[in-house]
Amino acid sequence: MPTIKRIDHIAIVVDDIPGALNFWQDALGLNLQHVEDVPDQESIVAFLPTGESEIELVKPTTDTSGVAKFLQKRGAGMHHICLEVDDIDAMLAQLKEKGVALINENAIHGTGGKRIAFIHPKSTHGVLVELYELHPHEPEIRLRRARTLTDRVMMQGQLAASATMAFLRALRGGNGGNGEHAHPEENAEQKA
Ligand code: ZN
Repeated sequence: MPTIKRIDHIAIVVDDIPGALNFWQDALGLNLQHVEDVPDQESIVAFLPTGESEIELVKPTTDTSGVAKFLQKRGAGMHHICLEVDDIDAMLAQLKEKGVALINENAIHGTGGKRIAFIHPKSTHGVLVELYELHPHEPEIRLRRARTLTDRVMMQGQLAASATMAFLRALRGGNGGNGEHAHPEENAEQKA
């Protein structure tokens, strides 16, 4: 029997990512992991992790995609919910057997080679549902992405530290100093 493991993500269509981040990031306090241009989906996507799941803010970049038409017709709002399943083929077979309307009868390849399939809202009481099976290499891909992000944050930290030192040095210079300190860094540390 195929099993649903968790909610992987909830996708929200927006017409303005910075505007949406005013709420999701600034007011609610979620962490913005990254923003990605996803040409496959004709969208820009902002990823905000929420524990084991994430909120995805999706802004269409063309007028022709499904999300673009959704936005034109219904305005910004929840677009779909994605459930992780341990065996997507077995789940699709089970749903077919139970007469559920599927948008994708067989799993298709989503971003990064993920295997996904959509279930029609007419069978789910009005919600577009995406099924997703974890790709065997995906944990490595995610880890690599997380490391790159960490490196970037570290670099920014070092830049901030060197800017602080320069600021302290400038302050000391402005004060004239008493001439007893041979090492400017030492003096700056004492003032900090
Ligand atoms: Zn999705």
